[in-house]
Amino acid sequence: MSHPLFNLSGRTALVTGSSRGLGHGIAEALAQAGARIVLNGIDLERLAQSAESLRGKGHRVDTAPFDVTDDAAVCAAFEQLDSRGIAVDILVNNAGIQLRKLLVDLSVDEWDKVLRTNLTSAFLVGREAARRMIARQSGGKVINIGSLTSEAARATVAPYTAAKGGIKMLTRAMAAEWAQHGIQANAIGPGYMATEMNTALLQNPEFDAWVKARTPARRWGRPDELGGTAIYLASAASDYVNGQILYVDGGMLAVL
Ligand code: NDP
Repeated sequence: MSHPLFNLSGRTALVTGSSRGLGHGIAEALAQAGARIVLNGIDLERLAQSAESLRGKGHRVDTAPFDVTDDAAVCAAFEQLDSRGIAVDILVNNAGIQLRKLLVDLSVDEWDKVLRTNLTSAFLVGREAARRMIARQSGGKVINIGSLTSEAARATVAPYTAAKGGIKMLTRAMAAEWAQHGIQANAIGPGYMATEMNTALLQNPEFDAWVKARTPARRWGRPDELGGTAIYLASAASDYVNGQILYVDGGMLAVL
């Protein structure tokens, strides 16, 4: 029998960007721990496939397609959830994009798009979720997805690095304001994970060899490997943990 502290029965979790990749893996883990899941993405077909695959495994799944960068769309999506009687207890701000370019070649539009998708989105969706958690006096959990670039920089991914560094501090700011309402805001910092976002890197033998040599675990992470950390941060087991970022990276950040 699983430990009651990790039981998410009766809870509803919205995971942004859960039509595939890490978001889908997190959603599945939260569902396995008993949560009702609301999946999000933009591509309707992929979202439907993601929902079907979880429903096929017996999980209770709803979908909420909206663009996490669009303030009006985020507000409308939450109003729709309200009208469907769906109250979000657990929010995972996971949606994100990558863009690989040198800073000197980067346009302002490109910079803005990466910042808006990876950082501003967590504020927009987090604000709507927290407004409702505070009004309900229900407490809640916010889990933001950071990165190794929340701590360390690498050439060609400057806006992503700035955004993920911002995620670490936004998480602390959320904790500073929302802890008094029984809301815990924490973050997960994944290492190099084998998802669609990293297709080009996975297919590049030099980069693949670098990741394996640089990571103490000597391998890429799998999309399902954030699940345990997500369940912990979504559950009563972490009720006095706030403003932290937990790295799930095969040990990469710990070593030179
Ligand atoms: P993927 O590219 O595989 O998936 C991205 C997901 O985000 C998709 O579901 C996509 O939906 C959704 N998405 C993108 N833009 C938006 C938007 N504007 N509105 C709503 N949904 C959107 O990425 P990963 O699974 O690899 O990454 C997930 C998170 O983890 C990101 O925040 C990423 O930065 C972070 N991360 C990833 C690492 C890795 O190695 N993979 C390492 C560290 C952090 P759609 O299909 O509709 O486009």
